[in-house]
Amino acid sequence: MSKDYYATLGIEKNASEEEIRKAFRTLAKKWHPDTNPENKKVAEEKFKEISEAYEVLSDPQKRKQYDQTGTVNFGEGRSDFSWQDFSHFGDFGDIFEQVFRGFGGGDFFSGFNRQNDPQLDLLTEIAITMSEAYHGTVKSIKYRRSVSCEECKGTGAKDGKVSTCPICNGSGQQRVVQGQGFFRMVSVTTCRSCNGKGTIAKEQCKVCHGTGLKSLVESIDVSIPKGAYDGLRLRVKGKGQTHNNRTGDLYVSVQVRNHPNFRRSEDNLVTDMEISFPDAALGTEKDIDIFGKNTRVKIPAGTQPMDLVRIKGEGFQNVNTGRSGDLVIRVRIEVPKKLTSTQKTLLEQLRNEGSKKKGWL
Ligand SMILES: [Zn+2]
Ligand SMILES: [Zn+2]
Repeated sequence: MSKDYYATLGIEKNASEEEIRKAFRTLAKKWHPDTNPENKKVAEEKFKEISEAYEVLSDPQKRKQYDQTGTVNFGEGRSDFSWQDFSHFGDFGDIFEQVFRGFGGGDFFSGFNRQNDPQLDLLTEIAITMSEAYHGTVKSIKYRRSVSCEECKGTGAKDGKVSTCPICNGSGQQRVVQGQGFFRMVSVTTCRSCNGKGTIAKEQCKVCHGTGLKSLVESIDVSIPKGAYDGLRLRVKGKGQTHNNRTGDLYVSVQVRNHPNFRRSEDNLVTDMEISFPDAALGTEKDIDIFGKNTRVKIPAGTQPMDLVRIKGEGFQNVNTGRSGDLVIRVRIEVPKKLTSTQKTLLEQLRNEGSKKKGWL
């Protein structure tokens, strides 16, 4: 009994390449096991069926063969659809971005991970003040990572003497066939015998006990750019974990602490300022301290409560464009709760003066 790939994708026998692609995209999104956590087993099966159908029908040669014979030869050395071939679907970059993001490997989709390396990138967080974000700063970070053992240069072997791994013949990978019956899943995993190195030690390195690795507390200085925002991720190349002489990167996620007087809105630096009614009515100049820098602010005559006074270019520098946002001051007008007798007299005079005209002043 042969499978009906057209029915699987819900398309006609004469479907165009575009229709095939569209059908696959829709179904792959619908049945991705990640988006069906409560129905994972069924979704996995469906997803496999859809992927297999797409692999055949999207390839003109395989499609022709399938149309003529009802079956497909998947190529040398294997007769089943295999997971690792999925990565050859060149035009699926975006689906992969969406659905496989966050997979650390070793899970359901380990077969997709071409290198089968463990996660080599590291992520750490660093908290900075708003002033440090405004001016930029350098921060020291201490963390633990693995590096190659110096004694054996990462081989794990005494004096570096190794021989080809007999289990994987030096490829570092093992093909694992799972499932039963008509459909079987072939996945490629890291060779357990040599841990993906492709070689085994004649004699173990005594320093690292054959792992080829050394654990290290690393101290580095990370330069935080001027205008760094909360959630900014900085990459420090080559400072991640090491495995089989490949080294990942360190990612530093920046967290900006709240400030009692300032906040950030896009690239603008926003603050409140309280002024007196006479200052608002007559206009004035005020000094404001922006993270150690004194800035003079001109409040125009007739400023209303909650008016925004903007000082161009005094906000945060944008880390990408280098352009600076503005300092935005929201004006509040202070109404005194207690008055001296002189103030009271003056305000009464002002009120009488105001009421001679209609409305205020
Ligand atoms: Zn060693
Ligand atoms: Zn091996």
